[in-house]
Amino acid sequence: ERKAALSASSGPGQTSDGHRVPLLANVGGPADLPAALENGAEGVGLFRTEFLFLDDSAKAPTEEKQIEAYRKVLEAFPEGRVVVRALDAGADKPLDFLTPADEPNPALGVRGLRTLLENPEVMQTQLRALAKAAEGLPVHLEVMAPMVADRVDAKAFADACREAGLQAKFGAMVEIPSAALRARSILHEVEFLSLGTNDLAQYTFAADRQVGALARLQDPWQPALLDLIAFSADAAKAAGKSCGVCGEAAADPMLACVLTGLGVTSLSMGAASIPYVRTALAKYTLAQCKRAAEAARATDTAEEARAAAHQVLSGE
Ligand code: PEP
Ligand code: MG
Repeated sequence: ERKAALSASSGPGQTSDGHRVPLLANVGGPADLPAALENGAEGVGLFRTEFLFLDDSAKAPTEEKQIEAYRKVLEAFPEGRVVVRALDAGADKPLDFLTPADEPNPALGVRGLRTLLENPEVMQTQLRALAKAAEGLPVHLEVMAPMVADRVDAKAFADACREAGLQAKFGAMVEIPSAALRARSILHEVEFLSLGTNDLAQYTFAADRQVGALARLQDPWQPALLDLIAFSADAAKAAGKSCGVCGEAAADPMLACVLTGLGVTSLSMGAASIPYVRTALAKYTLAQCKRAAEAARATDTAEEARAAAHQVLSGE
């Protein structure tokens, strides 16, 4: 029992039969690194770089300031993986110098990668800063674009990364249903997928993530969301590429087991949730996780999906 407790409080994420699922931390900047390290994160699965830009929403941080912040995060995981998300401005994270003020529906407007494509100099500065920050470090740098809608978006981002001379894997976040449905096509352009389940739920259910009254539709256990996750994970598997989750869904221990059963290859979350997810995963075999995922997908509501997964995993 002591050994089980120890492996739950540290060590890599894995099922009881040894199927590895790296547990990574979501960070907003260097200030979040101590918690990530204390909780045994195996790397960073989502570095939300917009926090660096929110300090002064009137202009972009200089290349030097960006290099400094990126380098601190990369140095924290010398041999590990660090997935950096390119600036995700707009909608719930507006920046005065970038975000149009007059959009009727900001969540459906110029945000995420769309903002970067309209402001290529901002994107190039950021990607160059990342390239310089990673110079000489053994870290496995991965860079991904937020709000990729289709293959055209994915190619534009990969081209921008190549133009900046970035030695890294380039990826696409799956946050829009079109990206999940056509994940196979997006994977022609990028080397990995990362599911942003917060936005994916928002856009799948046409339910603003900031409106509490719509919480039922934002529930990550919704079978429609599980289906879109399964499509994405299946496409990645067929292409021999990875497909992680970095939305809030990954922080729910039982849902983390279901996501593993759906074929998700890594889970990234707020650092405080990592030990709980590690403990939950270590209790079940991959086959049990798959059965829980199938049972959850066979239901019609989030509540039923939760109950079905619970029934499988508790062996009732
Ligand atoms: C998401 O949408 O799930 C996500 C991880 O990105 P953010 O929450 O920063 O929009
Ligand atoms: Mg998002």
